[in-house]
Amino acid sequence: MTFSPDTRIAVVTGASSGIGEATARTLAEQGFHVVIGARRLDRLEKIAEDIGGTALELDVTDQDSVDAFAAVLPRVDVLVNNAGGAKGLATVAEADLDDWRWMWETNVLGTLRITKALLPKLIESGDGLVVTITSVAALEAYDNGAGYTTAKHAEAVLHRTLRGELLGKPVRLTEIAPGAVETEFSLVRFEGDQDRADKVYEGITPLVAADVADVIGFVASRPSHVNIDQIVVKPRDQA
Ligand code: NDP
Repeated sequence: MTFSPDTRIAVVTGASSGIGEATARTLAEQGFHVVIGARRLDRLEKIAEDIGGTALELDVTDQDSVDAFAAVLPRVDVLVNNAGGAKGLATVAEADLDDWRWMWETNVLGTLRITKALLPKLIESGDGLVVTITSVAALEAYDNGAGYTTAKHAEAVLHRTLRGELLGKPVRLTEIAPGAVETEFSLVRFEGDQDRADKVYEGITPLVAADVADVIGFVASRPSHVNIDQIVVKPRDQA
């Protein structure tokens, strides 16, 4: 991958659908060369073609995949930690350990792996930005959701810790905590059960992925001395 020295590169993980895809489109419109990563390369390639970006296979739960992804990036100015999701809904008493492992591997260790791998390049950029997509699930607890809420709390604390550790270095860090967004999220959570997924949005008009991407675009277009620590964005009628 070779670019002119003034090309700014934004990396978006989990960009094959939903918030990640919409964010890739927004950042490309802002002039970044956007490198998009996820496991479904066929989807990524179509999006990359549309936005003039680069599609790279990435599994954030696999260290070799993260290392291979990081190795080909000549520079990184923006990292959007978006890859993530939920599996199942169950009481703590009936917790499915495999679902918990998936959520912790993807949301927590996945964000740790890719952030760690790209941190030297974000610092070298001289004006780096890390945006981590947590969730309102990182701010509260709800019945049957502990696998996801604990993972998102951990991801948020990881992000906030890094913000403190990087003070004095030229990297800004922003946590974005969305409420309900209509994406493939619920379909993944309920393993393809569309009826169950649709019920999640009953009684509210959910956000769409572009609503969250707009917020990320705003954060990425602030001057380099401005750090937006945290933004919570929800549908109007969500408590
Ligand atoms: P989607 O299911 O549409 O997107 C999830 C993305 O993550 C996909 O592109 C998927 O790509 C990618 N992904 C999953 N596992 C991996 C992996 N191991 N390695 C790399 N990429 C992976 O849902 P959303 O767009 O809604 O979710 C994006 C983020 O927003 C997640 O972190 C989610 O927790 C968070 N969020 C979502 C909310 C919602 O209501 N939708 C609310 C609050 C937060 P692929 O399968 O191709 O790998």
